[in-house]
Amino acid sequence: MQLPIIATATAVVDGVPTGPATNEPLRPLLDLTRAQLIDWLDSRGYPSFRADQIRRWIFGKRVSEFAAMHDIPAALRTALTEEFRLFASEVARHQVASDRTEKLLLRLADGEHTECVLMREDDRRTVCISTQVGCAMGCVFCASGLMGVKRNLSIGEILDQFLRLDRLMTGEERITNVVVMGMGEPLANLKALLPALESLNEKGGLGLGARRITISTVGLPEKIRELGRYGQAYNLAISLHAPNDPLRTQIVPVNKNIGVEEILAAADDYFAASGRRVTYEYVLLAGVNDDVEHAKQLAKLLRHRVAHVNLIPMNPVEPTGLEAPAVPRTKLFAETLEHGGVNATVRKRKGADIDAACGQLRLKEEQAAAGTTNAPAP
Ligand code: SAH
Repeated sequence: MQLPIIATATAVVDGVPTGPATNEPLRPLLDLTRAQLIDWLDSRGYPSFRADQIRRWIFGKRVSEFAAMHDIPAALRTALTEEFRLFASEVARHQVASDRTEKLLLRLADGEHTECVLMREDDRRTVCISTQVGCAMGCVFCASGLMGVKRNLSIGEILDQFLRLDRLMTGEERITNVVVMGMGEPLANLKALLPALESLNEKGGLGLGARRITISTVGLPEKIRELGRYGQAYNLAISLHAPNDPLRTQIVPVNKNIGVEEILAAADDYFAASGRRVTYEYVLLAGVNDDVEHAKQLAKLLRHRVAHVNLIPMNPVEPTGLEAPAVPRTKLFAETLEHGGVNATVRKRKGADIDAACGQLRLKEEQAAAGTTNAPAP
């Protein structure tokens, strides 16, 4: 195979000029699944093992450019450089909290932003990733919902968050757990999320199996069932936030057309399909959903189910005016659930000093751009 001359080369695929001759950004390599990468290599006469080599350089050896992939033939490295970008995003902002939680604001090729977070706890390295730019669900306490949804992220844009966070780690440190709890509604973008998670676990990837991955949803019953049929044992977390429909619709507006009973029925189906205990998330909002009566109602709903409740004290988001209850009230809520026969954990707040809650950083970035807040300069 001949070495193309980079400076003047114009890659042609199916007669359509691509690459350096146009102003379009190159495709992110990770928009391709492993199988698609093998096809691409095959069409250029390269054997399939090259795909795993390339993927190992990207996922395992943390390289940042194709040129650094020393055991890949030079001609192939050049072809990759001409046709693909290695990363789908640029780091726009990097923040480190006092508890070593790190957060990245990533700028995508079209100028939109997404966020992801790395949390450290003992030997666990958990990453929290986004699936959409913004969110359409409009939960009243959440920064991501305040500006609506712009678009879905692509497979590469989802995987890029893993790559960028993984490159914040040193030496032997490796990602151990994944929570899909960043910006957006994951079940509204299964089309990109599922191939991204599969790719992560395929040969040459990060080796993160379904049991280490938790997908959090506002509760879309048909999508929950679709995920159950998909057949991977992902952990499912459902953002319930209220034990009855009037209150839930007040906090989670999309509940109006769904309803708590319907969500619980879908969750039961997911448990039957996957064998995985379902987690229910409950953001505690002082004076809204934190009464002992609410805890009793919630216990009644869940005590006959294989379920766990994560109580999340509200992480303040400026325009919402909502707050977390005081610690004794939070404890009382958890104890009431336990007495009612339901396991509950109060989630520790991580990264509070870097706006690590879902969508907070992007919100500040957009408000600053629009001149609507006195957000600190980057
Ligand atoms: N759309 C999905 C995933 C994104 S939200 C869902 O609704 O689950 C992920 C979790 O973060 C949800 O449980 C959500 O309720 C919680 N969350 C969002 N904003 C928060 C805030 N300001 N304080 C505490 N938890 C928040």
